[in-house]
Amino acid sequence: MDKLIIIGSGPAGLTAAIYASRAQLNPVVIEGMEPGGQLTTTTIIENWPGYPEGVDAQTLMADMKEQAKHFGTEFKSGVVTNTDLSKRPFTVIVGQEKMEANALIIATGAYPRLLGLDAEKKLIGRGVSTCATCDGFFFRNKNVLVVGGGDTAMEEAIYLSTLAKNVTVIHRRDELRASKIMREKAKNTENISFIWDSVINEIHDLDKNTVTGASLKNVKTGEISLKKCDGIFMGLGHTPNSGLFKGQVELDDNGFILTNDGTRTNIAGVFAAGDVSDPVYKQAITSAGKGCMAALDAEKFIQGI
Ligand code: NDP
Repeated sequence: MDKLIIIGSGPAGLTAAIYASRAQLNPVVIEGMEPGGQLTTTTIIENWPGYPEGVDAQTLMADMKEQAKHFGTEFKSGVVTNTDLSKRPFTVIVGQEKMEANALIIATGAYPRLLGLDAEKKLIGRGVSTCATCDGFFFRNKNVLVVGGGDTAMEEAIYLSTLAKNVTVIHRRDELRASKIMREKAKNTENISFIWDSVINEIHDLDKNTVTGASLKNVKTGEISLKKCDGIFMGLGHTPNSGLFKGQVELDDNGFILTNDGTRTNIAGVFAAGDVSDPVYKQAITSAGKGCMAALDAEKFIQGI
């Protein structure tokens, strides 16, 4: 039996692993579907402290893994297909293998919702973004679109309005879902405008390998128009990878794992860190911080049993 299993290998999981292995907890990290996590889908990260020129995301995640290995973390590739958290030791099924542990850190992350257009994924990091805080800086004095009508979209639009020349929100209805305060703030910002009842049909220009604009379709009239822009931010929100734990660990209405008193979930010995339990900050550095906290919380728990 393992003392500690960490599910997920993004900044939260790997930071937890570094702390837990230095504390001699012999953690096992189950890497999951996307080893290294969401960051590995981007290129250069400019807001990870300590790198004035930015750092390559792949390199950063590979280095974190090496650091965790150096202190004795065991890595297991594979995806967790089932868990039983009703009693200790907790059971974690990875493929055909049944694993057991006295403590568990869930760091399975979240994935940004996308429109499902062909060019969308191909142009991520080349004009398409799912994070204004991460990429807004690249669009200083440029024209950008934000897709969506919820709080995420408004937050992205308001943040981008301080950097970009013009921000145009594209929303599929004529009414925003966002909270009143965010709606009003966005509507009262001079360089934010709205295109209602419209969806993005196509993102241009795959041939040029960069974003030059989007074809918009008015869902009421069927009219197609071209909107030129330098960047497109998908503000459709995030879906936490928490489905596996539904009915076992307490989730909020949007599926994020609820934590209290640090990283503790409703089950003693089960901790959560990173985007799976963070509907607000969603940054690599905040995930890493929570990963550290989860390892410290798990260490205290294991010492106590
Ligand atoms: P939401 O689900 O609230 O909003 C998603 C938006 O994207 C909706 O306007 C939806 O349109 C639109 N959308 C979804 N899919 C598509 C699609 N395929 N094509 C076009 N448009 C699409 O997610 P959020 O992340 O905005 O918010 C989730 C929760 O987190 C909320 O409770 C929110 O209040 C909270 N939150 C709070 C923040 C804050 O307080 N600062 C910041 C961010 C989130 P439609 O409206 O038509 O369904």
